[in-house]
Amino acid sequence: MEVRNTVDNTHPIQATCPLCRGPLSETVKTDGDRKLVELKCLVGHCFSPRALLEAHSQVEETVLWSAVVALEEASILVDAVTSQFTPQIAQRLRDQCLLKKRQALDIRTILEHLEPFETESTD
Ligand SMILES: [Zn+2]
Repeated sequence: MEVRNTVDNTHPIQATCPLCRGPLSETVKTDGDRKLVELKCLVGHCFSPRALLEAHSQVEETVLWSAVVALEEASILVDAVTSQFTPQIAQRLRDQCLLKKRQALDIRTILEHLEPFETESTD
């Protein structure tokens, strides 16, 4: 008698779901000679290995853009509140904003060179 689609095992992996950041578990099923790997989080988001890597690539880009926005909007926030501080502290805050703008540019450079995972064969 052939046993199909039998769950071999499920175990947690040290990574989180790209959609909800919940912990991921890997399930390996066998279907004849084929091994099927499925990755699932606590709330039920389910990925094939390829879909997981594609979703993770999207998360990398989204999170880096969030960092750019946070660093760049720091100047706007400082401009809005510097009148509440002494001139010395206000100047220090503006100097810190210059550093944050440079750091935002560094992340923009990283984004320009960010490579999504490629899971398609190039043959
Ligand atoms: Zn999830």
